[in-house]
Amino acid sequence: IPNTARMPIWIRQNLGNDVLYGKTGEAVHGNRLHTVCEEARCPNRGECWSRGTATFMLLGDTCTRACGFCSVKTGKPAWFDADEPRRVAEAVMALRLQYIVLTSVNRDDLPDGGAAIFSETLKQLRLSDAQIGVEYLTPDFRACQDEAVATIINTLTNLPAGTRRDLVWGHNVETVPRLYKTARKGSQYARSLTLLNKAAQQPGVEAKSALMLGLGETRTEVLGVLQDLRDAGVVRVSLGQYLRPSLDNLPVVEYIHPDMFAEYENDARALGFAWVKAGPLVRSSYYAEQQQGRSHA
Ligand code: SF4
Ligand code: SF4
Repeated sequence: IPNTARMPIWIRQNLGNDVLYGKTGEAVHGNRLHTVCEEARCPNRGECWSRGTATFMLLGDTCTRACGFCSVKTGKPAWFDADEPRRVAEAVMALRLQYIVLTSVNRDDLPDGGAAIFSETLKQLRLSDAQIGVEYLTPDFRACQDEAVATIINTLTNLPAGTRRDLVWGHNVETVPRLYKTARKGSQYARSLTLLNKAAQQPGVEAKSALMLGLGETRTEVLGVLQDLRDAGVVRVSLGQYLRPSLDNLPVVEYIHPDMFAEYENDARALGFAWVKAGPLVRSSYYAEQQQGRSHA
């Protein structure tokens, strides 16, 4: 749990509305589902759950990687549940969400990296509500990028007539390439850019990425990453403050001032990103439902 006493005043946690918070919790736990909001101890949980928004985590709560900033459990996952897509769709319908963000742990143990579950969930969601907005935040599909993209896009493009055939495809680069060795063991900056570029080229897809600041990166390095993302075709980006989820995680090197986030937001817009969120408590799924700057529907 972060030591809030030592945090600057601009890091505040809004506790939100208790009743709606409880309803979101029931829909999540009653359907045996996992959320990033809980597993990653996101500081916005009170606020988002009170608005009826949550980020669901597919494919279980155990990740095959161990990023230094992340509090999700690491190990050999036992979870595979072919019925998960149906239960996710049921929970999303119960919550009456119009926009849903879905992500997963890394499943390097599965030959398809979990792409079939992402694909089936997209189908179940759009068959339940033809107009629901869907955003994926996927792993890098290390050994199977082309197959994973083909699986998901095949489902997207073959949805019944009258169904939305768009998707925001997010994959977070998280930090600058120099810090991958300490912060993102098992991941490669170039591989993440390659996936984003592949996603960005698909019909109906808007590519999105996110950075966590405060791990010791420099401004020049951050601007370099923003440029790389634009070069890869990414149109949505978010920048937030890294908050240490537990003492087992990397320490915070710096709390970035809100004015600096505002500068990064301007920088990102100047580079041509259509959707930008930057601020201390911004997470990639924070207010993701806002349709700001969509280039196509
Ligand atoms: Fe959940 Fe995302 Fe909101 Fe955090 S910002 S509470 S992960 S929906
Ligand atoms: Fe956390 Fe890294 Fe696993 Fe993602 S890949 S869930 S950031 S440990």
